[in-house]
Amino acid sequence: MAIATINPATGETLQTFTPLTEAEIEGKLDLAQKAFVEYRNTPFAQRAEWMNEAARILERDRDRFAKIMTLEMGKPIKGAIAEVDKCALVCRYYAERAAEFLADVPASTDASSSFVKYEPLGIILAVMPWNFPFWQVFRFAAPALMAGNVGILKHASNVPQCALAIEEIFKAAGFPAGVFQTLLVGSDKVAAIIADDRVKAATLTGSEAAGISLAVAASKQIKKTVLELGGSDPFIVLESADLSAAVSTAVAARMLNNGQSCIAAKRFILHSSIADEFEQRFLEKFQALKIGDPMNPETDLGPLATPGIVQDLDGLVQTCIAKGAKVLTGGKPLSDRPGNFYPATILTDFPPGTPADNEEFFGPVALLFRVADIDEAIARANAIPFGLGASAWTTVEKERDRLISELEAGAVFINGLVKSDPRLPFGGIKRSGYGRELGVQGIHEFVNIKTVWVK
Ligand code: NAP
Repeated sequence: MAIATINPATGETLQTFTPLTEAEIEGKLDLAQKAFVEYRNTPFAQRAEWMNEAARILERDRDRFAKIMTLEMGKPIKGAIAEVDKCALVCRYYAERAAEFLADVPASTDASSSFVKYEPLGIILAVMPWNFPFWQVFRFAAPALMAGNVGILKHASNVPQCALAIEEIFKAAGFPAGVFQTLLVGSDKVAAIIADDRVKAATLTGSEAAGISLAVAASKQIKKTVLELGGSDPFIVLESADLSAAVSTAVAARMLNNGQSCIAAKRFILHSSIADEFEQRFLEKFQALKIGDPMNPETDLGPLATPGIVQDLDGLVQTCIAKGAKVLTGGKPLSDRPGNFYPATILTDFPPGTPADNEEFFGPVALLFRVADIDEAIARANAIPFGLGASAWTTVEKERDRLISELEAGAVFINGLVKSDPRLPFGGIKRSGYGRELGVQGIHEFVNIKTVWVK
């Protein structure tokens, strides 16, 4: 895939970038390693000062950064602005809490003194996707850098300007040269980079195929990975739910980022007693969404990031329809305009054996299922290879407790939208990946948890 800015709203190629040569990659790894030797000894207070400055720069230039995101990957501008602010939040969170999260932990043993000490590992490689092109990077970089690691970023090939802007932010914030660098390289270079002795671990957010490829390459070198992969999150609505709140949240949960979010609700599992009413209100709200220019603050639904995503999504939709699923609205790409536009789509009445059973629909397509009771709802929710997040709606305490303990997911949200929050760990189980980002757990992923025992 060429490294280029291609406007998804028009299809126009705006700028192309030459990938780094082998010698340039070597120069960046060398700089990163030299930076680590000094940087690992900087006090938390100094790192926090730089991290807080990064937050300030994000907020100061939020409109400029938001426009770069929208230009390169098509998210509605209001979402892009919110994304910049969320990045500032994660910078401040770890600036404030890292020293506490990484303080020595005493343990009483037969030693005169024994404790756990957290030490940075070195260069961490981040392979990141285009869908939240700032947030995905900052949620890795804020804890990794506060822990004393240095970061190298291989960003998705369609968001090079985002990648370069992020590098600039960390430089301008005062972090020493080499502490955070963007490597404009194709995915074909990732295996060699993780194999380099100086690179100690890697994190990848993206598709299963990319995750497998990185994990295989890293495992050959016995190096740790964190994988944040795909999802097909359930959104369960039971009989006692507040239906207005559930419907409004369901629309937001499916449409966030033009439907291209790993933790978007993708499968709506409805108790038969409320299913008709839910379906009707949901449909009205889908049909009222404003589709168009993502730079317009009024727009709800912009273009998908690339023509390939439209093609993949439409392939799944057409297979469902051909096998007998019913279309309530949408159902094919918009051909009346340039760009990668796909309408808000609702599919229902699936016979067994459609892609709705086991595939991720990465775009504005909602899949509706009807169930007779909570047992069937949980079984339907879990009958998928993924396990990222789950949203479930009920006011009955017993049902709530069952949903919390029986849903197979990295996160369960009751009566709310599944979202990431710096204060809570984030990650999946099953084919959605392993490891955690954010919270105290996130900063512990890329450190040496060193046991110290002194007689
Ligand atoms: P993708 O194609 O896997 O790309 C993600 C990153 O991996 C890009 O930097 C890409 O580089 C790189 N990559 C692709 N193939 C690779 C390989 N064989 N070896 C090493 N690196 C490789 O994913 P996407 O289609 O952009 O993103 C959508 C997927 O990400 C969805 O499944 C979504 O659910 C998932 N996602 C998960 C989370 C989460 O937190 N769990 C968050 C967001 C998205 P190039 O661009 O150069 O190909």
